[in-house]
Amino acid sequence: MKLTIFHLYPEAMNLYGDLGNILTLVKRCQWRGIDVEVSNIKVGDKADFNQADLIFLGGGQDRGQSIIAPDLLRKGSQIKEAVDNGAVSLTICGGYQLFGKYFRTAEGTEIKGIEVFDAYTVAGNRRLIGNVIVEAGNWASGQNQEKLVGFENHSGKTILLNDLSPLGTVVKGFGNDGEGKTEGAVYKNAFGTYLHGSLLPKNPWFADYLILKGLKRKHLEIEGLDELDDTLEMDANVAAQKRAMTAKTTYI
Ligand code: GLN
Repeated sequence: MKLTIFHLYPEAMNLYGDLGNILTLVKRCQWRGIDVEVSNIKVGDKADFNQADLIFLGGGQDRGQSIIAPDLLRKGSQIKEAVDNGAVSLTICGGYQLFGKYFRTAEGTEIKGIEVFDAYTVAGNRRLIGNVIVEAGNWASGQNQEKLVGFENHSGKTILLNDLSPLGTVVKGFGNDGEGKTEGAVYKNAFGTYLHGSLLPKNPWFADYLILKGLKRKHLEIEGLDELDDTLEMDANVAAQKRAMTAKTTYI
């Protein structure tokens, strides 16, 4: 059994430890004896997205987004097709924004996205920074845990259109549009979020959720994953939640 991960633009798009998400996915597979392969895809590389069980794109500053956007657009229809056929994707912040229709920068430049998500993002005039707690949406019902913790730092305000589901509801933090209501987006197995941190090391249940969905793409028969000892990971989760609850909201 093997999980194939496509890591998009690891150099240009890797803020606040986003690479930790890949390390977590790899380790949690290896600890269970599941084979895992990570293909790093850079601008100009050819990639067959039919082979991808899980696609990851981290966050990046506006500059990083502008650098990768033309290449991402060229790959867009293949990525969308893979997502429509059940591939899992996790996109963070700047990556999440480019899985929507566009990100309009503070200077008014529109960086086009690939429209996996029916959403658009416009830069606001303040940065939204801090630790975040999110209550995951309906997609997570049946999981033991339903809270996600992470760290956000963005100027972009993301607007979800036409009943696109959010990843969840904000318990603490700014979320999609700075109003502290919804966070992230979910379309099929595509998950977008503002949560850096890294996200997955301290949200092990979500890492496993993505791994299982990814494995099911080629191995429909799998029902669950072996349990791991998540004591350390959950200590980190609780510490991050405490920090979020006691922190003052920061605007810059
Ligand atoms: N350019 C985006 C913003 O500030 C993305 C930032 C990020 O990925 N952290 O909104």
